[in-house]
Amino acid sequence: MTGGAPAVPLFDLRMEQDDLDAVADVLRSGQLSAGERVEAFESAFAELVGARHAVATSSCTAALHLAYLAAGVGFSDEVIVPSITFAATASAAFYCGGRPILVDVVGEHDFGIDPAAVEANMTPRTRAVCAVHYAGYPAAVRELRRLCESRGVALIEDVAHGPLGDVDGQPLGTWGLAGCFSFFSNKVLSAGEGGALVTDDDDVAMTARVRRRELGYDFDEIRAALVLSRMSRVREDVARRRRLTRRYRRLLADVDGLSLPYRDEDVERSSCYVMPLMVLATEHQRQVREHVLVRHGIQTSLLYPAIHEFTAYVDRLGSQRIPVAERVARAEVTVPLYGLMTDEQQDRVVAALREAL
Ligand SMILES: *Cc1c(COP(=O)(O)O)cnc(C)c1O
Repeated sequence: MTGGAPAVPLFDLRMEQDDLDAVADVLRSGQLSAGERVEAFESAFAELVGARHAVATSSCTAALHLAYLAAGVGFSDEVIVPSITFAATASAAFYCGGRPILVDVVGEHDFGIDPAAVEANMTPRTRAVCAVHYAGYPAAVRELRRLCESRGVALIEDVAHGPLGDVDGQPLGTWGLAGCFSFFSNKVLSAGEGGALVTDDDDVAMTARVRRRELGYDFDEIRAALVLSRMSRVREDVARRRRLTRRYRRLLADVDGLSLPYRDEDVERSSCYVMPLMVLATEHQRQVREHVLVRHGIQTSLLYPAIHEFTAYVDRLGSQRIPVAERVARAEVTVPLYGLMTDEQQDRVVAALREAL
């Protein structure tokens, strides 16, 4: 099978009638820039996440920039981030005039930032550490918080793959100074573009609101209405993602040549934003992806190439070896997962992977 729409897309974004009506109401009202819907969304999102404040922004990248500013990151200051993430986690440090320090992740079973690597890379210039909750699976926030508190450094959470994960019942996004969420099209809760900074700190919330305006990072009524409408289904959507993830883990457990990051019990703590696999014979990573796409119309992705290997980062930060991140970048394949995926579609993905391997 070649060309045309994929038989099984990586993500599937379905709008319900309520979503369309909510947007149409805003357009009819004539109030498009931030107003009462943005405020209503901020209250509802703060409640969903279990934080005192939510500040809606134009993107998660904007929220990360505001969070690093709130952490005091300025000229030549350092922000420690994992090399396995979306580039914005790191690039937001440059926007503050500082620089990202890219460090390794825990292992091939856990793509969260490694607390030992964080500790080893702390310097007097470190102002913040950003923990990315990869695919919604909790990074080691308890250890990271202890470490950051002992060094007087801010912990920021990149929860772009959330919401609704937790560690011991405490929601992801509430473990540090601020948590940053994304409402980009392919995220769990999507509105095209958008983000939010959540915090329990009144000063951080106030600073973020002021800087949001100055920097042109405002959200708007149209997207606030859309994301509010979609939020009413997010718990159900995450429950479906968890069920599909458990099912993937059962069906893929005995496939030779694959390993499954994370453990079965981690699934209940995660938003299950994506389904990552590791192809053990890394020289076949590309062929596996090509085979399932060309023969079966199944879209896959690579989350993520290691940032320290990007030319732009090598030019700015120099060449470095970050071994686990490099291994993840060579072996990882992200396969389709979305709330409305059917068991039949999932069976097709599993059969295609077995054949490819
Ligand atoms: C998508 C993403 C971002 C950026 O989100 P935007 O809303 O597109 O700016 C940041 N971090 C991670 C881990 C992401 O996946």
